[in-house]
Amino acid sequence: MQRLGKNHGSYLGETIDVHQVLRDDVEAARKFGWQIDELPASERLDLLAFRRQADKTRNAKLGTRNIYISTGIHGDEPAGPLAVRQLLQENQWPAEAHFWVCPCLTPTGFPLNRRENAEGQDLNRDYRHRETAEIRAHVSWLKQQPNFDVTLCLHEDWESHGFYLYELNPDQRPSLAPEIIEQVSTVCPIDPSPVIEEREAHGGIINPNLDPNSRPRWPEAFFLIQNKTRLSYTLEAPSDFPLATRVAALGTAVRTVLEKFKKEQNAG
Ligand SMILES: [Zn+2]
Repeated sequence: MQRLGKNHGSYLGETIDVHQVLRDDVEAARKFGWQIDELPASERLDLLAFRRQADKTRNAKLGTRNIYISTGIHGDEPAGPLAVRQLLQENQWPAEAHFWVCPCLTPTGFPLNRRENAEGQDLNRDYRHRETAEIRAHVSWLKQQPNFDVTLCLHEDWESHGFYLYELNPDQRPSLAPEIIEQVSTVCPIDPSPVIEEREAHGGIINPNLDPNSRPRWPEAFFLIQNKTRLSYTLEAPSDFPLATRVAALGTAVRTVLEKFKKEQNAG
């Protein structure tokens, strides 16, 4: 599979009607019994979040897992919201896990097809100081939720040569990364570069070895690892490839994690 060669200096591929995507999400969430939360960011803007409780009649003694998925924090990365819509519509969530889904954290960025929100702020650098209404609303909602066993943040990279991911795993827990890469490689090229975004990478896996406290501006994943989880993945689809390939890549990555938890539960 070849790059399209469309992206020069920024993402120049297909755009989405994010409000239609969110309407579809709400329809699927209602149909399949999700709790729908509206996170008030400003007078004109609410963010959406969906919650789904595990089926308590099944294997309750094995313990449930808390899985968090977010996307749409960069308005020039359409594959994440489309992948989440597909996951909501196909409704193949393991019954033994609780889910939290934020389907679009920067709704004002998508109509502009740009990374930042309508005020020009990169929301994925605002989780330390929380100067934007969106991130204040998101964090205050997150603080009301329990901790998560794993968090998945779905992104795209307009420059990359294939899919890759960042893993934050400070306790050296069993990594899900090799299996995610293996499964995604069946639907999308993996970026083989030894250095991606100025970080050392191995077969599409980046383990940023740094203390968030040393960084002045935090992405969502830093807030999550400091406050809500001990295992975080940021998934990056290559946005110079066809949109359907990128949606398949992100969807496959999420499904791989869901399958992993299903297997664990069945083995338990
Ligand atoms: Zn991004």
